[in-house]
Amino acid sequence: MDYAALREKMVREQLLSRGIKDEKILAAFKKVERHKFVSEELAPNGYSDFPLPIGSGQTISQPYIVALMTEALALNGTEKVLEVGAGSGYQLAILAELCKEVYGIERIELLSRKASVLLAGVGVKNAKVKTGDGTLGWPEEAPFDRIVVTAASPEIPLPLIEQLGMEGKLVLPLGGPSSQILTVLEKKRGLIESRQICGCSFVPLIGKFASP
Ligand code: SAH
Repeated sequence: MDYAALREKMVREQLLSRGIKDEKILAAFKKVERHKFVSEELAPNGYSDFPLPIGSGQTISQPYIVALMTEALALNGTEKVLEVGAGSGYQLAILAELCKEVYGIERIELLSRKASVLLAGVGVKNAKVKTGDGTLGWPEEAPFDRIVVTAASPEIPLPLIEQLGMEGKLVLPLGGPSSQILTVLEKKRGLIESRQICGCSFVPLIGKFASP
């Protein structure tokens, strides 16, 4: 299987054609080997235009959604970023290409361990993953310039707002279990501005500041 060719095709047909233009983002998607973040049986589908199961009842998002969330974070390469819902580690690997350092929290230990091993295996050096309830954030590492939540959030977890730095951006799918709205919150001079991007569908965020 020519995975590099599949990556090129994914970038052309799923990202560029739908308006993702940032060269650095496109380069990250051409580089990161998404097929390694799914099981061997699913690897041939690793560049398809849909979410894929990653075990423990969880999924890796469709590449376009990962790109859209990454674009919404508006990274310039200097940021410290937190991802809540690390899952397979794929989004972390993409972010690691585009910012200074990235921290991922995953509530399912098996997935979090797998993600750590995988990230090290593909040579990512600026990402750290821990097991835990990401709705509590990662206080020891706060503040973060950017925070992304990749699970359906019924509400905005308060600790994440608190751990977001000045001029920081928080991107999350806001809404109930059946569908959400991809939302960008921006801290500006102490106030929070919000912008909606599009509808989406994520697995639920489960934790103290989300669903019980
Ligand atoms: N971004 C991931 C996919 C996310 S799927 C990737 O690139 O593969 C959403 C993940 O959020 C699931 O793995 C789920 O276990 C996790 N999750 C749900 N609630 C969480 C919480 N409170 N803290 C951390 N992770 C959580």
